[in-house]
Amino acid sequence: IFDLELNNVGKVYDNGTPAVIDFNLAVAKGEFIAFLGPSGCGKTTTLRMIAGFESISSGNMFIRGERMNDVPPQRRPTSTIFQNYALFPHMTVRRNVGYGLEVKGLAKAEREAKVERILATLDLEDIAERKPDRLSGGQRQRIALARGLVVEPDILLLDEPLGALDANLRKAIQNELKLLQKSLGVTFIFVTHAQSEALALSDRIVVMNQGRVEQVSPPHQLYTRP
Ligand code: ADP
Ligand code: ADP
Repeated sequence: IFDLELNNVGKVYDNGTPAVIDFNLAVAKGEFIAFLGPSGCGKTTTLRMIAGFESISSGNMFIRGERMNDVPPQRRPTSTIFQNYALFPHMTVRRNVGYGLEVKGLAKAEREAKVERILATLDLEDIAERKPDRLSGGQRQRIALARGLVVEPDILLLDEPLGALDANLRKAIQNELKLLQKSLGVTFIFVTHAQSEALALSDRIVVMNQGRVEQVSPPHQLYTRP
């Protein structure tokens, strides 16, 4: 049984834009998948359909065998990390990280234990009482990761999460993502328009162009046009 399956998934926006056409993909548990392609090719739309923020116009999507088409985002076993991190500026780091567990209604003791564990994993303990707007881009990125991971999703969805970081920091966070993938066994779906990023991170790369999947290959077999 696959962790994630998209069968002929399509998206036509209300204004008639065919954003995604016949998308097929089966992802194993713990795989790191990159969606790669130029701006406007349909990467974010596909990610948003997996998360449930965007409805699916045609085809079917399954997570661990369960059909997800009509399941609302908060009931899907996914977490999304947005490009701008979308942290709450008025809440401490600890509260930002624990927020998803509050929403889920977990008891305080259980919440605190999970939050402490993920703060430690991502080396955020020293800044746990600070507010995100005074922190660096790399720190905010790690907070966003912690917030996504603390709810223990089966699938972590990342929408161009490294775009705002400088080259050194990007390298550091890339390493961290690979370590998390190995230690937690979480499935990663990572949207990027940067080939170097897809090559560095993924087990398989899904190359998209004008709404269609052009190829699905491991990095060393990636075919690029001359
Ligand atoms: P990206 O290229 O990173 O996906 P965009 O700048 O293309 O981001 O889009 C930013 C936001 O605008 C997204 O929420 C997207 O859904 C929305 N958007 C993009 N294109 C259109 C469009 N043609 N009509 C309406 N909304 C759009
Ligand atoms: P990417 O993430 O690869 O940049 P998107 O999924 O954001 O691509 O966009 C795919 C296509 O859908 C583009 O033509 C974009 O303009 C269009 N689009 C995105 N969001 C919307 C929207 N909310 N309404 C209408 N068209 C959209």
